[in-house]
Amino acid sequence: MVSDLLIRGGTPVTGYADPAPADLLVRDGRLADGPPLPGAETLDATGLLVLPGLVNTHDHLRSLLPMTRRADTSGLAQMIEAGKLAGAAATPEDYRALTALAAARMVLSGVTTAVDHVYPLHRPGMLAAVAAGHADVGLRAHLAYGLTEDYEEQIRLAVAAADDEVPAGRLYLAPVSLRQTSADGYRAAARAAERTGLRLYTHIAETREEVDKCLAEHGVRPVELLHQAGFLRPGTVLVHCVHLSEREIGLLADNEVAVAYCPSNHLRLAKGFAPVVALREAGVRVGLGVDGMDDLFTEMRQAVYAQGQAAGRPGVLGSDAALRMATGEGTAAIGEPDAGRLRAGERADLITLRPGTSMRPLADPVQSCVHRAHGQHVSDVLVDGEFVVRDGRLTRAGETELADRAWRVTRDLAGRTGREHAADWQWGPAAPQEMP
Ligand SMILES: [Zn+2]
Repeated sequence: MVSDLLIRGGTPVTGYADPAPADLLVRDGRLADGPPLPGAETLDATGLLVLPGLVNTHDHLRSLLPMTRRADTSGLAQMIEAGKLAGAAATPEDYRALTALAAARMVLSGVTTAVDHVYPLHRPGMLAAVAAGHADVGLRAHLAYGLTEDYEEQIRLAVAAADDEVPAGRLYLAPVSLRQTSADGYRAAARAAERTGLRLYTHIAETREEVDKCLAEHGVRPVELLHQAGFLRPGTVLVHCVHLSEREIGLLADNEVAVAYCPSNHLRLAKGFAPVVALREAGVRVGLGVDGMDDLFTEMRQAVYAQGQAAGRPGVLGSDAALRMATGEGTAAIGEPDAGRLRAGERADLITLRPGTSMRPLADPVQSCVHRAHGQHVSDVLVDGEFVVRDGRLTRAGETELADRAWRVTRDLAGRTGREHAADWQWGPAAPQEMP
């Protein structure tokens, strides 16, 4: 059945070209040319900006880390340890509840596609529960299946899930990092990718300590080690890439490897500045990742600021580049090329923004979107031409119910893992207290 949606009177924003209002037609989940068929549904987008859906190329959507006062000062090692304990105690229902809330946060802030790096979930029902959490709100998700010490069994489980629980094109074999996966694990994942066609994904070159340890143990830098392991293949996505040599940048370009850049996470954990400008100049596709921080609007501006700071030259990464990294370039980085530019024939993944006072005057919509927009400006979100957010509200789930359910799960998990004092959990959905 043919179904048309006419998005009338909105202003498409895809780059620095002078924006002007234009109607967009959605037919059977894709953008199309031509007049709408009789009886088409209409979205009045007068006064709204229309952007391609934002693509979050790296996150962990079932955040198991309790967000309490004391969590603010914890370092990377403590966060990893706390996440491991909670992950071991979590049930499939816990994963689904936390994933659904995070997926809601994604779509409400304009993300239509996210890569969810999941681990540990090597227990019955876990992968299906995570996929159900994404589906609860309508987020398109890629699943990066985390591999740790027991990688042979985990690869077997991931391969068995391909096209059964998750489409193979959206499933990655994803060693967690050199901290948690051995070089043999990376080699095994690369062999499995060669055999099955599944793609590869991992955190790499994240801290100076990781580089030093890798040099001491293997005599090469982390990305060189992955190259030796056969891990650098077309379609591979590497997260972070903060500390790279020129040779490593060349290896990424030569092997058609993409990078997921997470500027707020790098600033929050004082990891350093990834060489994003050099990577893009070398022809490497770079997408943006939220990685447990705020949202992709924030990541766009943080990318601009962090790159300017690193170079000592403001604007070395422009706002239009940041917008492309959050849309078309991010889409291409994760191998979904037929979206991200608002062109006929593409999948209709798009968002509308209602520009608030903070975004005005709209002399330059790209500047306003990159430097002044927030999730609350998002009005409508379409994934494959279907509304998952309409007029600022989820269409498939209730926000309050999702938040209450996730609050209970987080409180119970903290109690079961003995990580938090009961005093931290006086806050509840029903009776918030004043800050001391
Ligand atoms: Zn991560």
